[in-house]
Amino acid sequence: MRRPCLVAIGYAVARLFIACTTAHGFACISSSGPVPCPGPRWASHGATLQISLGTSSFNQAALNAANDWSAVGAAFQYVVQFASGQPSNVCSTCGPQNYNPVFFANSVCGLGFGDIVAQANICWDQHNNIVNGPVFVNSTVSWGVYDGPFTPPINDLHRVLLHEFGHVVGLDHPNQLGQTVAAIMNSGESDTDSLQADDRAGILSLYANAAPTPTPTPRIQINIGSARGGPGENVDITVSLAASGASVAATANDITFDSGALSLNPAQCQVNPEIGKSLSAGAVGSGWVRVFVQAKPNTSAIPDGPLYTCRVSIAAVALPRTYPLANGNTAAFSPAGAQLSGVAGADGSVVVSLVPQACTGDCKNNRQVTVADILTMVNIALGNAILSDCEAGDTNGDGQITVDEILQAVNNALNVREIGWTHPVP
Ligand SMILES: [Zn+2]
Repeated sequence: MRRPCLVAIGYAVARLFIACTTAHGFACISSSGPVPCPGPRWASHGATLQISLGTSSFNQAALNAANDWSAVGAAFQYVVQFASGQPSNVCSTCGPQNYNPVFFANSVCGLGFGDIVAQANICWDQHNNIVNGPVFVNSTVSWGVYDGPFTPPINDLHRVLLHEFGHVVGLDHPNQLGQTVAAIMNSGESDTDSLQADDRAGILSLYANAAPTPTPTPRIQINIGSARGGPGENVDITVSLAASGASVAATANDITFDSGALSLNPAQCQVNPEIGKSLSAGAVGSGWVRVFVQAKPNTSAIPDGPLYTCRVSIAAVALPRTYPLANGNTAAFSPAGAQLSGVAGADGSVVVSLVPQACTGDCKNNRQVTVADILTMVNIALGNAILSDCEAGDTNGDGQITVDEILQAVNNALNVREIGWTHPVP
């Protein structure tokens, strides 16, 4: 980047190009100066900057400048590494590949800076793929970091590096292509201290839009179940895993609840014996329990389904209402011990009711689950009957009859002749 006093000279030279470039704002680099885009670019859609500017505020200014370009939304991202000492190899012919040190120097490979405050030496191969672009920052002039109007003789490192990193991206000076646009990529220092619309259009023309980053959908679910009971009763809450095909060997989650109405003794949490894991549970605080399902004695993947069950006691004075069992700090680990991303969990609840719920499958509320009841539930599940034909089949109240609920009803029919007013305990 040049000092502003020489902009007029550069502009005069560039007027030769006005006629053929009016459709363009931004400019791209070429071996003969600024040209309309496209020009050389990074085939990898990114570059790594090795920054060694001596002080944390200068390094931070460089990081901010790199991030400004990465944030445009083009299919180009800068990676920043902080280095120390002076770089080597920057005066070799070209390369090494992706070697882009950013550093103070008192010359550009032995040539004085002249009126230049910083310079990026971009080189590219015969396929127009940029190989590297070291950024030389003139150590013989004064530097600071500030926003707003340019106040010589202090040069603002952030805006100058923003400009130089634009060169590394592949952009050149629009003003030297006969354009009069607001742009950090214009050749002189000015009051412009941030990327302008023309700069953003430039990087987008070289690297198009990145596909919108998909919002990561939590694919691993650790879900707290729900139960219903009366004041003074105990209910069992089942926490289950739905891993969407991921291999999960261990889990963690918190359960928080209204400790005035509910109590959960961690010692009464039991791992599902069928998954072959161990369980550790403890109280984090009042109304807050943390449960780990640990990969002991084995690290094999846990099948989807119940992880563990905790007994929740409903206070004798609990008012009838729905008390949430809030899920938190969900985590899952692979058989290799890596923490998996995309883990979430649904809350559960304890419904405190003065009227007990009918047992699953007791469609006619006659304290029996019959084959006819089960067929009714199957028909509701298949869409051939409506839920009101067997509301007692919808144990969790989600408006649907699920396979789990049909299996529970079958279990009830097989094991319990006279259901009574409470759920059967196998
Ligand atoms: Zn420049």
